[in-house]
Amino acid sequence: MDIHEYQAKEVLANFGVAVPDGALAYSPEQASYRARELGGERWVVKAQIHAGGRGKAGGVKVCESDVEIQKASEEMFGKKMITHQTGPEGKGIYRVYVEAAVPIDREIYLGFVLDRTTQRVMIVASAEGGMEIEEISEKRPESIVRAIVEPAVGLREFQCRQIAFKLGVDAGLTQQMVRTLQGCYRAFTELDATMVEINPLVITADNRVIALDAKMTFDDNALFRHPQISELRDKSQEDPRESRAADRGLSYVGLDGNIGCIVNGAGLAMATMDTIKLAGGEPANFLDIGGGATPERVAKAFRLVLSDKSVQAILVNIFAGINRCDWVAEGVVQALREVQVDVPVIVRLAGTNVEEGQKILAQSGLPIIRATTLMEAAERAVGAWQNDLSQGTRMRAVS
Ligand code: GDP
Ligand code: MN
Repeated sequence: MDIHEYQAKEVLANFGVAVPDGALAYSPEQASYRARELGGERWVVKAQIHAGGRGKAGGVKVCESDVEIQKASEEMFGKKMITHQTGPEGKGIYRVYVEAAVPIDREIYLGFVLDRTTQRVMIVASAEGGMEIEEISEKRPESIVRAIVEPAVGLREFQCRQIAFKLGVDAGLTQQMVRTLQGCYRAFTELDATMVEINPLVITADNRVIALDAKMTFDDNALFRHPQISELRDKSQEDPRESRAADRGLSYVGLDGNIGCIVNGAGLAMATMDTIKLAGGEPANFLDIGGGATPERVAKAFRLVLSDKSVQAILVNIFAGINRCDWVAEGVVQALREVQVDVPVIVRLAGTNVEEGQKILAQSGLPIIRATTLMEAAERAVGAWQNDLSQGTRMRAVS
């Protein structure tokens, strides 16, 4: 789960990271009022969306009066902001953050990620802040400093000093760097984050180390341990298909193709998507309904996949290990009777009680297209979809 910049700053501030003074606004009027409350002469208005790259897209404006703030935020509110991180559909702006402007001397990049190779938290930093990390690693790869944190001992001060030194930070600022790095690391581990990114971490003209931007992502599977973080969720920033799935306990990722997939197990779901591609089709989604595919879950999955209007065929691929094919088949039949499905449905079952499962599908009287192997299932799904297109008719699974 992603959170907004202003939320990440509040979280990190609680762990001792210095951030600018700021306040949130839900309207242009409130934005200018917030600036007057904050005081000072220069402010920055920042569109709150779950994506970076706002600076270049007009989502970060430095203002010198409340009138300017009102105008700058009027330009933002209600708009869909498209940055290189949002995808072509963009993300809606419904909140802006107003901050006291900070006089920047230097911009540093600072990121904390999970490094799967070493199975450790890795710190990635660069003296070339402001640019996105992708751009830094392309243009100035030698500027990137990496450090692995040993979980048994945590992030030690000497390691932080080493990083600060490699970034060329003045010795007088080392303590502030240590505090920032350790604060981020503690927030990362204690809150089960998967990413903390501060870009830029700035050194101000008056020698302060401040997080000017902040981004945090949390492990969805650990959110139950952090109710105060779960509350920060903003559905307006999520793919509506993915929000609906998350609310129903299904693991779903929306894609651009038109063959909907209902699969049990993440590995099998990946293999299914690969096979659809191999057969010349494009998957509309990744959907893992989990190990115990009950009829209710199967029905939920059908509703979810069908809510995506680009879906033109559905491939159900179930491997029953602990589960049983006959039980899953009952679920599919029940789901198809309950849910109005007007696209071809291809079902491939394998594993425990497969014969009984096939019998249930065959005897249901529903126009289910059956397949034995995954390749066959994918080819039939692609074939059914193409056939459907060329005939201009739709096979009805439910009359
Ligand atoms: P992003 O483009 O979405 O990553 O948004 P950022 O919060 O990183 O802002 C983009 C850029 O705006 C930063 O790299 C800074 O150069 C600039 N910026 C943001 N806040 C301030 C500020 O308080 N003062 C000044 N001078 N520049 C700022
Ligand atoms: Mn940034």
